[in-house]
Amino acid sequence: MRLSKYYLPTLKETPAGAEIVSHKYLLRAGLIKQTASGIYSWLPLGLSVLKNIENIIRDEMNKSGAIEALMPCIQPATLWQESGRYDDYGKEMLRIKDRHESDMLFGPTHEEVVTDLIRDAVKSYKNLPLCLYQIQWKFRDEVRPRYGVMRGREFLMKDAYSFDVSYESAMDSYNLMYKTYIKIFKRMGLTPIVLRADTGPIGGNLSHEFHILANTGESTLYYDNKIFKLLESEDIESLKNIYAVADDMHDLKLCFIPQKQLNISKGIEIGHIFYFGDKYSKPMNVKVTLQDGKNVNIHMGSYGIGVSRLVGVIIEAFHDDKGIIWPEAVAPFRIGLINLQTKATGAADRIYEALKSDKVFYDDTEENVGVKFARMDLIGLPWQIIVGKKAVSENIVEIKNRATGEVEEMRIEEAINRFSTK
Ligand code: ATP
Ligand code: MG
Repeated sequence: MRLSKYYLPTLKETPAGAEIVSHKYLLRAGLIKQTASGIYSWLPLGLSVLKNIENIIRDEMNKSGAIEALMPCIQPATLWQESGRYDDYGKEMLRIKDRHESDMLFGPTHEEVVTDLIRDAVKSYKNLPLCLYQIQWKFRDEVRPRYGVMRGREFLMKDAYSFDVSYESAMDSYNLMYKTYIKIFKRMGLTPIVLRADTGPIGGNLSHEFHILANTGESTLYYDNKIFKLLESEDIESLKNIYAVADDMHDLKLCFIPQKQLNISKGIEIGHIFYFGDKYSKPMNVKVTLQDGKNVNIHMGSYGIGVSRLVGVIIEAFHDDKGIIWPEAVAPFRIGLINLQTKATGAADRIYEALKSDKVFYDDTEENVGVKFARMDLIGLPWQIIVGKKAVSENIVEIKNRATGEVEEMRIEEAINRFSTK
């Protein structure tokens, strides 16, 4: 992509109201623009990152055997009256009337819709287990939308829903999502702290929250530092049982963490998995027939990931005072090509033509060198190819690693070779 043909409205100054680094850089690097409080437009560069995150999630969800669907944003109130949540949900729910005076709402979550979606077709144990997921916009009228995409009112979520015939089978579905979440976050370069949100009795509710450590996080985490070792292992049962809690220092569960292993940090929630049994299948009367002819309510779980929040979280985790440092897996482009000299345009064009398909962002503008360097550092592409004087006289360019700042000189052909392989 040539910058001269792209839409990248970067800002020199940090706009007022942006308190945390991810919010500042999202605005300054031209990734998002606020349309209303807690409601953002995704500009082309930001959208690329959002799509890359989506695709990592989609890939791992598909590998786990979950199946993608898409449910509506606008839902009828009747489904929520059936589950009994309509009156309880409160002001976070945006309630709307259509022209026939029917009560509608903009979905803050989709348990009711998905339960309704499967209830006519899933009748037998033979149809289960089943896990459906979607990547869809939610609306929650948060009291205090803030920190940019971290706590928006409109935000993108990956939400999955599992359906099983028994508690045992539901636990297999739950564990599979647990493992899948760790894979997803690791692929983005993140190390999640998993909090056991509720111990619950056998057969009762069970839930884990996935957090990322960050000074700007809204929750305080109390966790056992053994978690990092366990995350490296495949020991899901030990991991599931390791104690960690958010916010409540006096929580009894803290007693389970030996003092010398207790870590306390701020964190941001990026995902949440939940087993809730027949909470929806019972009131909405969703039953399957078992092998022995008995009818039982389906056991359900739901599994959320904050897709748009992750864009902010990744910036919180990877940045310096010059700007963002994208991990390669989510970077909007792999390489930033900077042409510093009119004379070198031929060489820069040649590199661009050779690598175009490999996600190159080409600063082909005539702006001054300082502006070009600062902008490229701000948008944080993993690699920079800098084309200057030596490209003309000696056929040599500089390769800069954005994360380490290391610069290496090499011949143009070598540079092309190096980046066209992957
Ligand atoms: P929080 O405690 O942060 O409000 P939640 O418990 O309400 O989160 P869930 O209902 O479990 O969140 O939603 C699943 C995921 O969606 C969360 O883990 C979070 O990453 C993301 N999320 C929730 N609310 C928002 C929001 N207002 N803006 C952006 N992402 C959000
Ligand atoms: Mg919330």
